[in-house]
Amino acid sequence: MSERGLLIVLSGPSGVGKGTVRKALFASTHNEFKYSISMTTRKMRAGEVDGVDYYFRTKEEFEEMIEKGQMLEYAQYVGNYYGTPLTYVEETLNQGQDVFLEIEVKGAMQVREKVPDGVFIFLTPPDLGELKSRIIHRGTDSPEVIEKRMAVAREEIEMMASYDYAVVNDHVDNAVQKIREIIRGEHCRVDRVIGKYIKMIKEM
Ligand code: 5GP
Repeated sequence: MSERGLLIVLSGPSGVGKGTVRKALFASTHNEFKYSISMTTRKMRAGEVDGVDYYFRTKEEFEEMIEKGQMLEYAQYVGNYYGTPLTYVEETLNQGQDVFLEIEVKGAMQVREKVPDGVFIFLTPPDLGELKSRIIHRGTDSPEVIEKRMAVAREEIEMMASYDYAVVNDHVDNAVQKIREIIRGEHCRVDRVIGKYIKMIKEM
C-alpha cells in the first residue's frame, strides 16, 4: 500500500483571500494534491456549481451528517454551516494522495486536534488596513456587518500562533509560490519519510 498522503490546511482571517489563493494554486497544479470540496448551507452564488464549488445542502441534511459523525470538521460562519466531509479526505489520504482544505479558523483548529501531523498554513493580510479595504471592496455589506467582520478578523490573527506556517498574501502569485514550497519541504521531513526506509531495511 502507498504511504498516506499529507493533509494540508489553508486557513486565515475572513477576507484575507483564501479562496482566491486556493483557486490560483489549483489553476497552476497538475493533480499534485486533491481539493476537498466543502459542504455548506449557504445559498449558491451566481456562477457557482453544486459539487464543484461546494456541496450545497439544507440545514437538515448538514445536521444529519454531523450527527452521523460524517464531518471531519464544521463551523458556523455568518449564519451558515460550512464543513469538510470525512470520507473523501480519509479515502484520498489512504490512497497516498495529498488533500488540501481551505477553511475558516474554527474548523482548522478542529482538524489540528484530529490530525496533528497535518500541515497548517495561516494566510495573513499585509496589514489590517488592507484587510478592511478588502472586506469593504467585497461589495454589498452594511457598515455593521463590516465592523463585525473586522472584530472577528482581529481575533483570528491572534490565532496564528496555532499554525505551522504564516504566508502573507501580498500578491496571490507570491502566496501560491510559498505554499508550494512549504508542501515540497514538508514532504522531505525526516519524520515523514523515515518509516518507509525503516520498513525497507526490515524487509531486506
Ligand atoms: P464563502 O461563503 O465566502 O464561500 O466562505 C466563507 C468562509 O467559509 C471562508 O472563510 C471559507 O474559507 C470558509 N469555508 C469554506 N469551506 C469550509 C469548510 O469546509 N469548513 C470550514 N470550517 N470553513 C469553510
